[in-house]
Amino acid sequence: MRLPEIYAANPFALSFELFPPKTDKGADALFRHAERLVEFKPSYLTCTYGAGGSTQDSTLNIAARLRRQFGLPVATHLTCVGRTADQIRDYLRRAIDADVQNVVALRGDPPKGESKFTATEGGFAYANELVAMIRSDFPEMGVAVGGYPEVHQEAPSAEVDLDNLKRKVDAGAHAIITQLFYDNEDFFRFRDQCESAGVKVPLIPGLLPVTNVSQIKKIASLCGARLPERFLADLESCGGDADRQFEVGVRQATDQTQQLVDAGVPGIHYYVLNKSEAAVRVLTDVRL
Ligand SMILES: Cc1cc2nc3c(=O)[nH]c(=O)nc-3n(C[C@H](O)[C@H](O)[C@H](O)COP(=O)(O)OP(=O)(O)OC[C@H]3O[C@@H](n4cnc5c(N)ncnc54)[C@H](O)[C@@H]3O)c2cc1C
Repeated sequence: MRLPEIYAANPFALSFELFPPKTDKGADALFRHAERLVEFKPSYLTCTYGAGGSTQDSTLNIAARLRRQFGLPVATHLTCVGRTADQIRDYLRRAIDADVQNVVALRGDPPKGESKFTATEGGFAYANELVAMIRSDFPEMGVAVGGYPEVHQEAPSAEVDLDNLKRKVDAGAHAIITQLFYDNEDFFRFRDQCESAGVKVPLIPGLLPVTNVSQIKKIASLCGARLPERFLADLESCGGDADRQFEVGVRQATDQTQQLVDAGVPGIHYYVLNKSEAAVRVLTDVRL
C-alpha cells in the first residue's frame, strides 16, 4: 500500500521510524523492539538512510525484511547525497523488487564540517528534484518529504522555507513528515502556514520521545529543535537518575501526542531510535 492510500484509508495513521543497525546483534534487537511496536498496529514503518548515503544496502535490507516479517507497508528513506540520478533510479528499482513501495525523499545534509550542500555531478541539488524524478519514473511509489516546523537550518526565512516545501508538494509528494519538535505551538503555527499556502497533503508531526538529558541535548543541537524551558528544567531536576529522566521524557511525549491527536492530526510519526519502551508507554497512555 502506498502513502496516499494509507492516509486516505485511515483517519489516524501511526508510523515508526527505525534505522539500519551496524551489527547482527543490533538487527536482532531492532526486530525484537519492532515486534512490540507492531502490536500498536502502525500503518507503516520506515527505515532511515545513513548520512552521506553510507547505509544504502542495509537500509534496503532492513526495509525489505520489515515488509516480509510484519506484512506492513514500508518506506525507505532516500537522500541525494553522493549519488547520481541513475544510481538513485537503480536503488528505486531494487526497492520495488523488494516490495518497498514508499520513499521518504530527502536532500540529505552537507558532509560533516561543511555548511553548504553540494550536489553530486549528475545528481540532484534539492529534494523537490528527487520527488519530481520519482513521480515521473516510478509512479507506482508513494512519496513523503520532510517539513520543518521550526524552519530548516539553512533557510533564510520561514517564508522561503515554506515556498520550498510547496515546491516539493507541487512536484508530487503525497505527505509531509515533520522534523521532530517539542513544543506543539511550533507545529500548529506551521500547520496554519501550510494551510494558508494551499498545501493539501497530510502533514504528519514527527515526535521523538526522549529518554535522557544528554540524548535530547545532542539531538536538539543537531537538528535545531527548541526545548521548552519547563521540559528541560524537569529533565535536569532528575539529576543523574535515569529512571526519572525516562519518566519525564515519556510524560512530555504523551502530553504532546494527546494534544496533537485531539487537534485532529492525520497521523504521528515516531522516531523511536530502534527502541520500543518509550513509544509503548506513550501509546498505552494516550487515547488515540
Ligand atoms: C522526516 C525526516 C526524515 C529524515 N530522514 C533522513 C535520513 O534518513 N537520512 C538523512 O541523511 N537525513 C534525513 N533527514 C534530514 C534531512 O536530510 C535534512 O534535514 C536535510 O538538511 C534537508 O533535507 P530536505 O529533504 O528537507 O531538503 P530540501 O527540501 O531540499 O531543503 C533543503 C534546504 O534547501 C532549501 N531549498 C529547498 N529547495 C530549494 C530550491 N529549489 N531552491 C532553493 N532552496 C531550496 C530549503 O528551504 C532548505 O533550507 C530527515 C529529515 C526529516 C524531516
